[in-house]
Amino acid sequence: MPIYEYKAAAAGCRYCRNGFEIMQGMNDKPLSKCPKCRAVVSRVPSRFLACVSETPDEVAETERKLRGFEKEGMWSHAAELADKAGLEDRAKDDYKRAGHEM
Ligand SMILES: [Zn+2]
Repeated sequence: MPIYEYKAAAAGCRYCRNGFEIMQGMNDKPLSKCPKCRAVVSRVPSRFLACVSETPDEVAETERKLRGFEKEGMWSHAAELADKAGLEDRAKDDYKRAGHEM
């Protein structure tokens, strides 16, 4: 399934202000509101889609799992996985969120 990136048009919460990515089916309606704070969001071209075709399956799978955890707000799971995958910045970011979100 393609991953779409959304960003708050104006004010938003911490989640949508800097943009967030979400996996959606081709036939799903585009999001118009942030799932967390309901601020109006708009879709932005995804950087991830551009590079996913060059990514080995294993990395793509890790990425997919990571995004799943992040989408569910399971930041500590995401952080652990990112850590294992050697994604230091991602892990740091997720650990930080793990501390804040719960
Ligand atoms: Zn929001």
